Amino acid sequence: MAGDRVALTFDDGPDPRTTPRVLTVLDERGLRATFFVLGAAVARSGSLAAEVVAAGHELGVHGFRHEHHLLRGPGWVLEDLRRAVGVVGEATGQAPRWFRPPYGQLAAGSLRAARALGLEVVLWSVWGKEFADPELERIRRRLASGLRPGAVVLLHDSDLAAPAGTGARTVALLPGLAEDLAVRGLRAERLDRVAA
Ligand SMILES: [Zn+2]
Repeated sequence: MAGDRVALTFDDGPDPRTTPRVLTVLDERGLRATFFVLGAAVARSGSLAAEVVAAGHELGVHGFRHEHHLLRGPGWVLEDLRRAVGVVGEATGQAPRWFRPPYGQLAAGSLRAARALGLEVVLWSVWGKEFADPELERIRRRLASGLRPGAVVLLHDSDLAAPAGTGARTVALLPGLAEDLAVRGLRAERLDRVAA
């Protein structure tokens, strides 16, 4: 039972330009989240990945590279995910539990690779589309319309696989999202505390 909890999730980081700012707002507002990281970004910014975990958040894997799994063979996907799991483990000392494929593309090979590596696949139930919309108020309403117990909210803490400005827009959205959660009696949590 999700109770009063909503899973807050961020894709495409960690990004030294924006992820620290996201962490600051989450801390100020008492929000917890799961970050679906790119292995290549963790390899560059391992200490930032460790900082995310030390701040009480959780890491899942989004792939080593941000590629369309439907255009890749099962062997490529398995190797990519294995690398991602490896660098997350090295950076944080923790084995990731969750996997969200890039673009939400669930190829047969993605599912097989997840099973082989013991990862649980997670998509989302509400997103802001903040990567494609400059209007903060419209994004806020889009997110608010999907807030209910057990919802999985998708935002991006990074521009690494999204248009420039996406991560900064997420930073700007978080205080409003925190208010919208509070008025509904909901709180943002890590996936492992929503899905448990
Ligand atoms: Zn992504």
